[in-house]
Amino acid sequence: MAHVAFIGLGRMGHGMAARYLDSGFTVAVWNRSKAKADDLVASGARWAGSPAEAAVGADAVVAMVADDEASRAVWLGKDGAAETAKAGALAIECSTVSHQHALDLSHDLRARGLVYIDCPVTGLPDAAAAGKLTLLVGAELTDLEKARPFLAPLCNTIRHFGPVGSGTVYKLINNLLGAIQIAGLAEGLAIAEQAGLDMNLVLDAIEHGVAASPQVLRHSKRMVARNFSGATFTAALRHKDAAYAVALAESLLPDIPIGRATVQAYDKAKAYAPDDDEAKMIEIVSRPR
Ligand code: NAP
Repeated sequence: MAHVAFIGLGRMGHGMAARYLDSGFTVAVWNRSKAKADDLVASGARWAGSPAEAAVGADAVVAMVADDEASRAVWLGKDGAAETAKAGALAIECSTVSHQHALDLSHDLRARGLVYIDCPVTGLPDAAAAGKLTLLVGAELTDLEKARPFLAPLCNTIRHFGPVGSGTVYKLINNLLGAIQIAGLAEGLAIAEQAGLDMNLVLDAIEHGVAASPQVLRHSKRMVARNFSGATFTAALRHKDAAYAVALAESLLPDIPIGRATVQAYDKAKAYAPDDDEAKMIEIVSRPR
């Protein structure tokens, strides 16, 4: 039976690891906070004391952690997965990381004989738990073919953008667009509130107008109701993604004023409530000076 080491059991990773168990893989799990693994272990996963311990004997090591720092730690740090992963094993990085980190990590893991797949995802935690993510892959075609059996439990769509790093380029564009839309929505709704408009009418008009992207629709009613329960994506993660996108853009374009302004907006959101829902942006915009 194919053996997967799954590292990072947060909102996304927990459901993804469960997909491997449900699909009949032998699964070893590690998370910085052990309690998040308890139900997976009860369902048959092996708890590993470190990423290195999880990676022993794995055909594929899959990581889903917060950011560059976490990714570096779990792959390359002390007791990181690279210490023990066998030569030829797949290293599938699903975390949203910076483009430079994806390239550097690929370089380092390949030097240790691993087959690196750049594999950020789109889809919310419920899609992760249902195996309905979209995978944004950057990899050589032969490596992708080798990885397909290990990607299949996670997704209903694989988009292959090109070589390593290209999946991350698309992911960062996607999330910068989302960040701009959420920040813009918060400002638009706050203006409407301050101007005294009927907010039910505003919501209905947004829903039926051309500015109604899925991202806008996902957040508009919650922002007006100030209902931030069940956070699926935090202000800290949105800030990170926008900042990584702007860092990438700086190497490609002379100026990106909207991207920069969006990072500044999420600087404030992160300082205000880092682990709360990204939609709290409206509370920041609405705050009296
Ligand atoms: P999350 O719930 O905040 O989980 C973050 C995970 O990273 C946890 O397992 C956490 O461990 C771990 N972690 C953080 N810092 C670490 C460190 N220094 N060393 C080791 N582990 C560390 O985040 P998430 O929503 O699952 O997101 C995970 C990744 O998926 C992020 O890159 C995010 O941008 C991306 N993503 C998220 C969504 C979404 O809708 N949520 C959608 C697509 C992509 P602890 O449990 O110990 O804190």
